[in-house]
Amino acid sequence: MEISIASRIRNLPPYLFADLDRARREVQARGVDVISMGIGDPDLPTPRFIVEALKRAADDPKVYRYPDYQGSSRFRCAAARWYERRFGVRFDPEREVCALIGSKEGIANFSLAVVEPGDVVLIPDPGYPVYQAGCVFAGGTPYYLPLRKENGFTPDFGAIPPEVLRRAKLLWLNYPNNPTAASVELDFFAEAVRFCLKHQIILAHDAAYSEITYDGYRSPSVFQVPEARQCAIEFHSLSKTFSMTGWRLGFALGNVELVDALGKVKTNVDSGVFEAVQEAGVVALDAYPSSVKETCEIYRSRLEMLVPALKRLGLECERPRATFYVWAAVPEGYTSVSLALKFLEQAGVVVTPGSGFGRCGEGFVRFSITVPTERIEEAVRRIEALKL
Ligand SMILES: *Cc1c(COP(=O)(O)O)cnc(C)c1O
Repeated sequence: MEISIASRIRNLPPYLFADLDRARREVQARGVDVISMGIGDPDLPTPRFIVEALKRAADDPKVYRYPDYQGSSRFRCAAARWYERRFGVRFDPEREVCALIGSKEGIANFSLAVVEPGDVVLIPDPGYPVYQAGCVFAGGTPYYLPLRKENGFTPDFGAIPPEVLRRAKLLWLNYPNNPTAASVELDFFAEAVRFCLKHQIILAHDAAYSEITYDGYRSPSVFQVPEARQCAIEFHSLSKTFSMTGWRLGFALGNVELVDALGKVKTNVDSGVFEAVQEAGVVALDAYPSSVKETCEIYRSRLEMLVPALKRLGLECERPRATFYVWAAVPEGYTSVSLALKFLEQAGVVVTPGSGFGRCGEGFVRFSITVPTERIEEAVRRIEALKL
């Protein structure tokens, strides 16, 4: 029989890194000790007290059964409690908070809750690929908002054509930002909320990096703009904050109708997060910011090693106030991919070409500092020996 795959899968954008993956395997086959700064996945272990909490919780047979779809009451209360302590805004844990199997799950499923076929979804370019995938799976049409350096890598809402605005249903934002490492102040969210209310657009904010910050910077939440409750949902993740990417735990909170609609999608496609993992999440959130401070100190020292070396090589970049990425401009004579290949072939360092995050990512490469500090030191030594 001839298998016919759905167009929503066939039409997914091609995997841009196939050439780079092949080149990486060739370099490794030559015996080069490759340092991977391509993927944003913390090398630091989950703090011990969180692992211990999981072990304790896993001993209780009551966690072996199906969990509550929306998350345990204890986890949702801990999320609301943490959020209020961190941002000074209160949410009802029963109605306005929903546990997620990692925030990626919630981000992808949210489009199914609100996007009708033909609706336009406003998506940052460059950006996290899941916004686009969720939109396409729901039958929506992506409209890309360029994030340009001269605007601090924030979108220019005034540049969106009126006919796009009329069909726009949903806007995605993500600050601190992946991949550009940009961060914003609250006045940017105030502008975004005004824009969304004026044009009747739902605002979805991905706050995955809200706690990976440096030099006293505190990243804002959209709900510190009071009117945001009329139109917004915010996605939080324990993955980066507590080095728990493999555990799959996050939550969404915000407008009661939006959280409820996301919960309805989830009720129909998954059965929630293992309750022992949620219990460990409660312990992690209640202990905030104890382990997070040390984590950020380590990332900061790595950034301080890497950024000057990149600058000396001629890659324009800044030490970011947040995230564990460096977004560096590609010098004249290179593209994102050709520079990434040069780093791989001549320094054995894997970086991500910005073009993989969207057209406007061309001209940049992304370095992730989620590799052990001595590997960063080694990468810096090799980068210093490079000539462009
Ligand atoms: C890492 C990341 C997430 C979080 O993923 P989880 O599913 O919670 O592990 C969400 N958004 C962005 C932009 C990320 O980089």
